[in-house]
Amino acid sequence: MLDAEFFRRWLTATAALVDREAARLTELDSAIGDADHGANLQRGFTAVTEALAKDAPDTPGAVLVLAGGQLISKVGGASGPLYGTLLRRTGKELGDAAEVTPGQFAAAFAAGVEAVARLGGAQAGDKTMLDALEPAVAALGASTDTFATARDAAGQGARDTVPLRARKGRASYLGERSIGHEDPGAASSALLLTALAGAVA
Ligand code: ADP
Ligand code: MG
Ligand code: MG
Repeated sequence: MLDAEFFRRWLTATAALVDREAARLTELDSAIGDADHGANLQRGFTAVTEALAKDAPDTPGAVLVLAGGQLISKVGGASGPLYGTLLRRTGKELGDAAEVTPGQFAAAFAAGVEAVARLGGAQAGDKTMLDALEPAVAALGASTDTFATARDAAGQGARDTVPLRARKGRASYLGERSIGHEDPGAASSALLLTALAGAVA
């Protein structure tokens, strides 16, 4: 079973990975965007860890809804509302249960990713975070063993964005010139899944 502490561990580990990889995320965004993805997520996940420490929500759903709200309100870029929606929607799906099964989490996360696709109007192959998130959803299942598979699928999905042409977001303004670069949001989604797999005790 996964409790509030598990989800706190996941998001705190994501914040640490974002800090460590901020320069790389910004470098990816400088190639096909406006060079702020690292800073955007650092600001957002710093706010997430601070809010979690201050409010100490005691259910998985409350942890994720609080974190999502922070990302929506503290990140100016496109990624803030998208990641915020991902976490908020996942959290709302989990309701007020004190603990959830990996399978319940997998279903809730799938609904969260679907909400991201709806909000951004993007689909797999558009060279966005969805190219890492959707393979992760496909890999997540009833046991925490699947979290490592989802991590690997997200990493592969991010690398597979290199030859794609961006059809959504800022990178789409570049047209053909977006080809040949990894999507920054797909790269950060891979970090989110790396942290998830790492949060399994
Ligand atoms: P901004 O582009 O506003 O500067 P960020 O640099 O923080 O925001 O985030 C850019 C990332 O957001 C992209 O690499 C992409 O993965 C993701 N993104 C942008 N637009 C969309 C969209 N419509 N749907 C899904 N993801 C998107
Ligand atoms: Mg940007
Ligand atoms: Mg920006």
